[in-house]
Amino acid sequence: MKDLKALIRKNILAMKPYSSARDEFKGEASVFLDANENPLNNPYNRYPDPLQWKLKEKVSEIKGIAPENIFLGNGSDEPIDLVIRIFCEPRVDNIVAIDPTYGMYFVCAEVNDIEYRKVLLNDDFSLDADKLLAATDKNTKIIFLCSPNNPTGNLLDKTEVLKVINTFDGIVVVDEAYIDFATDNSLLTELDKYPNLIVLQTFSKAWGLAAVRLGMAFASTEIISYFNKVKYPYNVNKLTQDFVYGELEKLQQKTEWVDMLISQRALLQQELAKLPFVQKIYPTDANFILVKVPDANDMYKKLVDKGIIVRNRNTVSLCGGCLRITVGTGNENKKLLEALQLIG
Ligand SMILES: *Cc1c(COP(=O)(O)O)cnc(C)c1O
Repeated sequence: MKDLKALIRKNILAMKPYSSARDEFKGEASVFLDANENPLNNPYNRYPDPLQWKLKEKVSEIKGIAPENIFLGNGSDEPIDLVIRIFCEPRVDNIVAIDPTYGMYFVCAEVNDIEYRKVLLNDDFSLDADKLLAATDKNTKIIFLCSPNNPTGNLLDKTEVLKVINTFDGIVVVDEAYIDFATDNSLLTELDKYPNLIVLQTFSKAWGLAAVRLGMAFASTEIISYFNKVKYPYNVNKLTQDFVYGELEKLQQKTEWVDMLISQRALLQQELAKLPFVQKIYPTDANFILVKVPDANDMYKKLVDKGIIVRNRNTVSLCGGCLRITVGTGNENKKLLEALQLIG
């Protein structure tokens, strides 16, 4: 890996971050007259902890990663955008990513005017590290990987992922939004070995908290310090900080939900396989299944007519004819299967 300071945009390296009242005075006091807050309407009158330490301590216990190696943001969307803004000089640097994958990496690259190079996965959606690395050049700052990948559902082979991390001299982001549903371990256990690795996870999927908007990035303390430098001062509001702290007590419930969804996933795969028109059910390590049918557009519309919404991935690279089906409750999956039988 190149020296981190050589990878970071010069203006980001040089700038002084916004210093809030909460940053300047951190201790205990009885009278706070420093932040122009309203003294009434406790506790929501006060600005929240800009670095969410209490919540990070809790996340730290669950993930086995020190609080200093954690960034919390407004969904994963925030760290995806920030990593681009920290490392990529508009109209100069570029990003390399697998294709197909999650659409937000490309959107954030476009917003920031950064060239985005797509490298096709193999036909079975596996990763070819050499092919990916061949698309990089001296201006490539970030590689985006997603494992399990969206919309394909598969885990990327760990040997290939590690080859990318070990060979590339820039930043590698591995998005593990669906890792709770996977058979393979998270890369988090090896985070300290790879100074150029950023692992993304989220509360939006396994934890059932998509509405609260909380995403996690795990990386070296140095990388995390740049996230903190660039983020909005109060990027995670107090309602989210307090609420998610409470939800994290329900680790057991999350585990039960994941177990239920994994067994529902197996059942759904089994029943989908019985439908004569289903051409292919791709293996999945996520909470969704990619399914190939003869006419995805037609089938999508017919399901909509029955009040059932799946994701039409027909126009996505390597996914022609495919629908992406999220695993629901037993009852929801049954309704889907009944509708599919009728459509035929
Ligand atoms: C759903 C999803 C996310 C979650 O995004 P949030 O902003 O945290 O809700 C992240 N990455 C991938 C690949 C996803 O599919």
